[in-house]
Order: sequence, then structure tokens, then C-alpha cells
Amino acid sequence: MDLFEYQARDLFAKHGVPVLAGEVIDTPEAAREITERLGGKSVVKAQVKVGGRGKAGGVKLAATPDEAVARATDILGMDIKGHTVHKVMIAETAPEIVEEYYVSFLLDRANRTFLSIASVEGGMEIEEVAATRPEAVAKIAIDAIDGVDKAKAQEIVAAAKFPAEVADKVADVLVKLWEVFVEEDALLVEVNPLAKVASGDVIALDGKVSLDDNAEFRHPEFEALHDKAAANPLEAAAKAKGLNYVKLDGEVGIIGNGAGLVMSTLDVVAYAGEKHNGVKPANFLDIGGGASAEVMANGLEIILGDPDVKSVFVNVFGGITACDAVANGIVQALDLLKSKGEEVNKPLVVRLDGNNAELGRKILTDANHPLVQQVDTMDGAADKAAELAAAAK
Ligand code: GDP
Ligand code: MN
Repeated sequence: MDLFEYQARDLFAKHGVPVLAGEVIDTPEAAREITERLGGKSVVKAQVKVGGRGKAGGVKLAATPDEAVARATDILGMDIKGHTVHKVMIAETAPEIVEEYYVSFLLDRANRTFLSIASVEGGMEIEEVAATRPEAVAKIAIDAIDGVDKAKAQEIVAAAKFPAEVADKVADVLVKLWEVFVEEDALLVEVNPLAKVASGDVIALDGKVSLDDNAEFRHPEFEALHDKAAANPLEAAAKAKGLNYVKLDGEVGIIGNGAGLVMSTLDVVAYAGEKHNGVKPANFLDIGGGASAEVMANGLEIILGDPDVKSVFVNVFGGITACDAVANGIVQALDLLKSKGEEVNKPLVVRLDGNNAELGRKILTDANHPLVQQVDTMDGAADKAAELAAAAK
């Protein structure tokens, strides 16, 4: 999960990294009172999860409270590289900036280690510095066990050739940023610029943090950091019900049990779709090992909630959960949805194979639901689902 700048800033502050005061707002008028409190001037900063806001006009200085309202009016609603600005941070202005540096920690998957990147040429995009002046960018591997202590931080500072007068302060910031990286379970912690101001102090003026979603179970506080406005509502609903649902851009809804089967179902549907007006998978949902009526009803509800879906392919290979249980789940799910006033109105193609497949098929045949048809092979069922979706397209 990528964080907004203001959320990164809060994490920095929590671990003692020097930052400037600021507050987030979503209406321009609110900028006035905050700017007054900050001493009459402020920086208005677009909160979007993309870099280069400054260049795009998303970071503006305001010399008076009135000006802060005007800049907030300009920036709210702006489009920055396809991201609409819904919030701005009204921040304390930095004292005179003398130099801008770059520092970061990240997971280096290719080298199976952690990495520190540092440069005295910050401010602009680091990719650009790395491309044009690679010698200005220091890259130091960090051992996962040893981490970053003062000595390691000094090694990074020396490698990046930070000026002597800021070496100690930058090293101190690096130790604290590593603390953010480890304790918050981040995959990326980046400060650009780390500014040297006239007094000689260094301040993190901009922050980018990406948290490891796999660590969410030990961070209940991550929940509050999610950007609910940006989330796909069906993906959010699926997550709330403990289902793995991914939205795609085709027409055939896919429900399967187990990641491997679901992945190959996507392939056979895409392949079958080539013969049927180019239809493709609209989404996929892995019901995992369980296929109770409730799980199936939740799955169908989510899949059918996607208006792009024209047909649904339920592909189940019975293992520990036998096909008769899955079939009963489907029949009860259809009744459950009907009783909730969400009657299924799109064709369902079901393929049951594996443990107790015969019994499962019989249960569906006996239920005789007008929109459910069974095909016994995966390829045949994919073809039927694609054909039905193409007909309804
Ligand atoms: P980015 O363009 O998305 O990386 O946004 P930044 O937060 O890094 O801001 C871009 C640039 O605006 C920085 O490199 C600074 O030069 C400048 N900037 C940001 N905050 C302040 C501030 O408080 N005072 C001044 N004078 N400049 C700032
Ligand atoms: Mn920046």
C-alpha cells in the first residue's frame, strides 16, 4: 500500500525524523485558518500518490492566508498524471532551502537484500539523476539482520559524499528512517528532498512510503491508512468477506476454487473468447477451499455486482470440499440471493469435476434452475460461457 505524503510525514514524525507541521484539508476555505496558525504563510501541496507534483503545479507557496485559499482552490480538483487531487496539505514553509538531497531504503528483490540509495543531488527525480549522472547516486546494500546503525549510516553518508557539516545530521536521519522501515514494515521509505536549510538543519520536505500489505495482520492501524475513495467497491466488498476478487476488463465472470485452477480458467476463457467476438474474463474470484452456500452466495453477489459481467463460469475441482457440497452451495446461494431481491439474471455455466462430481452434477440437474447449465469439461464450459457472453454483449 502506497501512502500519501501526509501519512508518510506522520510516520516520520512518530520516529523522530525532522518534518514540518502541516494539516490536510479537502475544501479551500479551510486553508485560511491553518495558514494563520502557521504564522501567516504556508505551502499548499497536492496529495496524490504520484511523483513530480512540484513540476506539475501541485506545490505552491502562499505568502498570506488569502493566497493559501486561492492556491488550494487552484490545486484541489487538479489532474496530476491521471490522479485527481481530492486533498491538499497546508504545510509550514521551510526556512530558506540551501541544498536538496535524496535518501531512501527499499527492498531490493533482484539482489535479495535491502538497499539504501542516497544522493546529494536531490529535489529532482532520482531516476533522472541515476540516468544522467550515475556517479552522483550511492547504492549501499543493507544486511537484514544488522540493519542500519550509526556506523552503517555513516558509511552511506560517506559513499554519497554528503558535505561534512551535514554528515552527522544526515546519518541521524538515516538511522531514524531505517527505524520507520523496520517498525512500520515498509517496502520503501524515500525522502526527496531532504533539505538543508539556512540554519544548517536537515528536514524531510517530502516523503514516500510503501507499506507491506503482507504485514497488515500485525498492524491494525494500517486499516485507517487505506484510501477508501480510490478502492474498487467490489474489491473492497470481497476483501471484507475474506474473498480474493480481482477486477479485469472483459465480460465473463469467473469463480473457481484454488489459485492455480482460477489462473488456468482465465487462460481457457480468454482462448475460447477468441472464437466468440473476442470476449475475455471480466474478473476472477477464488473461493478457496470452502464452498458453503454462504461463500458461494457472497462470491456470486460480488461477481454479478459487476455490470460488465454477461455470463458466469463456475469452475470447481472437488478435493477436500466435495462437488456435492459445492452444488448444494450453488443451489442455496441462488435461493439466498432471490430472497434478498438480488435474483440471478445472467447465465451461469458450471463445471464440476473431481471428488463426488457425479453427485454434484445430479444435485444441479435436479434443481433445474433456468439460468444454470452444466458442461462436464473445462474447455467445453469455457466455450459455452464465452458464447453466452458474446451473445449478450
Ligand atoms: P514532488 O514534486 O511531488 O516531489 O513534491 P515535493 O514535496 O518534493 O516538492 C517539490 C519541490 O518544492 C521541492 O523540491 C522543494 O524545492 C519545493 N518545496 C517543497 N516544500 C517547500 C517549502 O516548504 N518551502 C519552499 N521554499 N519550497 C518547498
Ligand atoms: Mn519530492
